[in-house]
Amino acid sequence: RVRNAATGSFLVYQDEMRQRNRERLDAEQSLRSALRHDWVEPFLQPLVNLQTGEVDAFEALCRIRHPDLGLISPGLFIPVAEETGLIGALSDAMLIKTLPLMNDPLLTQVYGEHFSVSLNLSPAQLHDPAMADHLIRELHRAGVDPRRLKVEITETAVMADASIAMVVMKELRRAGISVALDDFGAGYSSLGYLRQLPLDQLKIDRSLVSGIDSDSEKRAIMEMILTLCERLSLSVVVEGIENERELSCLVGMGAHIGQGFLFSRPLPRDELVAQVPRRGILALAGGQ
Ligand code: C2E
Ligand code: MG
Ligand code: MG
Ligand code: MG
Repeated sequence: RVRNAATGSFLVYQDEMRQRNRERLDAEQSLRSALRHDWVEPFLQPLVNLQTGEVDAFEALCRIRHPDLGLISPGLFIPVAEETGLIGALSDAMLIKTLPLMNDPLLTQVYGEHFSVSLNLSPAQLHDPAMADHLIRELHRAGVDPRRLKVEITETAVMADASIAMVVMKELRRAGISVALDDFGAGYSSLGYLRQLPLDQLKIDRSLVSGIDSDSEKRAIMEMILTLCERLSLSVVVEGIENERELSCLVGMGAHIGQGFLFSRPLPRDELVAQVPRRGILALAGGQ
């Protein structure tokens, strides 16, 4: 029995630490098993052209399909993968499983042969000088045009070592691979940076999008970002659109590309083709 309040809180703290270590260990074990047994799976979430309603791009999002635990979300294992150095193997598994989807007969039949796919790059990958060559080699091996691939990076990752990141980004773009800045507006976002980074696309974070229809400050910030991107010739994706009110507000502001649960959650290939048409998804979403 604990008497001293300070000691008591120390014991609680120790308990919590132990609990957290156990969970981390579980996550690490699950991740190792997933890599060994090939349980890593890319889910695809459509990006919708908000002017035409066409789906011609997807983001590949990592899932672990665990036989006992079911589907595990990246929020639970990406941080662990980064801490343990397993992120390289995980990213490779994602790459190796995503590229064949780009020539998959069913997907190309429904969405055409030119749809593009985005992959999320971890900070470690963005600072790996061999990354561009690696991607180019794998694209070649899979017979996929580099212009159909996009990589998503974050500002925090760039700033960890901007000089190496810039070199990698430039190499990727020289090879025809597009570079998107993910989660813009989520944390510390610098507008000044935007002009200097070799980018093709900006993805505006869900935190600026949710409830935008009833928040004039968010609308003002969104308008400013959209205008700036137009000036800088950056394409813009608005992430995390969840309802019709947000959608019609964004369409009214002239946003070009949208992504969000309103259109579709990230899905495995078979569910995607069954649920998401190439055209007309705006009408389904009630947008137009
Ligand atoms: P992200 O790259 O910003 O991906 C978007 C996340 O927002 C996805 O979560 C997606 O399911 C979710 N999302 C999309 N639309 C909506 C919406 O309307 N409402 C809400 N509430 N959420 C929405 P997910 O799949 O859980 O991925 C979380 C994060 O994990 C990703 O954020 C990305 O940073 C990371 N991640 C996922 N796959 C990979 C991967 O293969 N490699 C690396 N390095 N990171 C990955
Ligand atoms: Mg992303
Ligand atoms: Mg994002
Ligand atoms: Mg995110």
